[in-house]
Amino acid sequence: MSDIPTPAPSPEDFLPSDRPREECGVFGVYGHKDSAQLTALGLHALQHRGQEAAGIVAYDKGHFFTHRALGLVGDTFSTQAVMDQLVGEVAIGHVRYSTTGGTLLRNVQPIFADFAFGGMAIAHNGNLTNARSVRKSLVNRGCLFQSTMDTEIIIHLVATSLYSTVVDRMIDALRQLEGAYSLVALTRKKMIGVRDPLGVRPLVLGRLGEALILSSETCALDIIGAEYVRDVEPGEIIVIDETGMRSIKPFAPTKQRFCIFEYVYFARPDSVMEGLNVYGVRKQIGVELARESHVEADMVVPVPDSGVPAALGYAEESGIPFDLGIIRNHYVGRTFIEPSDQIRHLGVRLKHNANGAYLANKRVILVDDSIVRGTTSIKIVEMVRAAGAKEVHMRISSPPTSNSCYYGIDTPEKEKLLACRMDLKAMAEYIGVDSLAFVSPDGLYRAVGEPGRNAEKPCYCDACFTSDYPTKLTDLKDSNGMPEQLTLLTESR
Ligand code: SF4
Repeated sequence: MSDIPTPAPSPEDFLPSDRPREECGVFGVYGHKDSAQLTALGLHALQHRGQEAAGIVAYDKGHFFTHRALGLVGDTFSTQAVMDQLVGEVAIGHVRYSTTGGTLLRNVQPIFADFAFGGMAIAHNGNLTNARSVRKSLVNRGCLFQSTMDTEIIIHLVATSLYSTVVDRMIDALRQLEGAYSLVALTRKKMIGVRDPLGVRPLVLGRLGEALILSSETCALDIIGAEYVRDVEPGEIIVIDETGMRSIKPFAPTKQRFCIFEYVYFARPDSVMEGLNVYGVRKQIGVELARESHVEADMVVPVPDSGVPAALGYAEESGIPFDLGIIRNHYVGRTFIEPSDQIRHLGVRLKHNANGAYLANKRVILVDDSIVRGTTSIKIVEMVRAAGAKEVHMRISSPPTSNSCYYGIDTPEKEKLLACRMDLKAMAEYIGVDSLAFVSPDGLYRAVGEPGRNAEKPCYCDACFTSDYPTKLTDLKDSNGMPEQLTLLTESR
C-alpha cells in the first residue's frame, strides 16, 4: 500500500449535506478466477453507500493481497497494476463513508489481522453500540488497537477467544457485541457472511455460475450478472468453503428490525430489500404522503435525485402534474475549489438549479426524502421562490427525524436535528414554506406493506423517528446529552 495524500476538499466540506449519510457497503466473491475484478465492479454499484474510501482483500495460495485507498472505487481500482496484485479466487471489498476528521488510511476496510490460526480480513457495515466499553476491557487486557474503528474490536475478540475454530471464535465474539453489523469476512479457507440478530443492515446472497457472492445490495449482483439467491437472515452466519455453503443460526431468535430508512433514502432504488423493490416502496410513500397531506397546487417537483420516486407517487395519487422544476448537476464531483466567504452562499447552486421557465407563477409542491438540520431545505426553497414560484409547499417522504442513529448512519447529535428543536409550524416558518408535512410512521409502514406501525411490536428499526432503539445503547452517556459513542462513530468507517 502506498502513502495516502490528504484528500482534496469536497463540496460536502463547505456545503454540508442535509441528509443522513450511509456509512458502508460490503461485497465478497468466493470461487471465481476474477474475484477481485468482480468485487471492484460490485463496489462500483455500492458506491452510494460510501464515497470516502474503498478496499479489497484477495486470497490465493497462502497469501492475502490487499489494496485500500481514500477516494472513489473508480479511482482506487482503475489501473491494471493494482488489479494484477489482487489474485485468487476469493476476495472481499468495502466502501466507506466517514465523517470529517475520520478519513485515515488506518480506518479503511477491509481490516486485516494475522492470527495464530492464519490471517483474517473483515468488512463491516453498521455500528456497535457497546464498542467503547468492550474496547476498554480489551485494552485493559493488553490488546493494542491500530485504528479507531469498532470493527477492530471484532478482530480482537476473535483473537482472544478460547474456542478453537474460526467460526466458533467469531460466534463467541459476536455474542459479546450489541448494535448493527452486516459483515463479510475472509480467512485462508473460508468466506463468512453475518447479519446481526435484528438484521438492521442489509446483506444478500447471490450466485454467479459456481461462485457465491455476498453483497449489501442486489444492485451489486446485477452489475456482475449474478443471480439473487436470497437475503441473509437476521442472526444468520453463512460459511462458504471448499465443501460448499452452510448456514448457522447461533443467536436466540428475535423479531427482525431492518432499518426502514434503507427504503426511504439509503439503498439504491433498483435494489430489492427483504423482497421489496426500493423504487416501488419510495413511490408508494409518495402515494401515502399525497393521501395524508393533500394541498391544491399546480405542480409536483422533486428535490433531485432522491425525492424523484416519492414525487412521482405523489403526482400519480394527487393528479397534480409532475415536473422537473429543479435540475441537478451530476458533474460536481468530489473535488472542489474552496469558495471564499463572499460566494459560499451560492454553494447550493453547484448541485441544484431552479428550472425558472416552469416554476414562474406556479403553486409548487416540493417533495424531498428527509430534513435533518434544515439548512439545504432553506436554500432550495429560496431558490424556488427566486425563480418565481407563487406558493411553495414541502412534503417529506419520511417522518420527522428527531433522534440520532447509532447503527451506522451518520446523523448529527439530537439537538442539531430540526425536528428535535421545533414543532411543525416553526419548522415551516424556518425553512420558509407555505405548508410543510411529513409522511406519518403509519403511512411509511403502509408503504412497505404493513397495516401500520404496531407500537407494541414494530417490525423495522425506526428509532430516528420514534426513539424506539431496538438494542441496548451501552455506550450512550446522557450526562451531557451527547452520546459518547458518537465520538467513536465519527472516527470509524
Ligand atoms: Fe435506520 Fe433510523 Fe434505525 Fe438508524 S435509527 S438504523 S437510520 S431507522
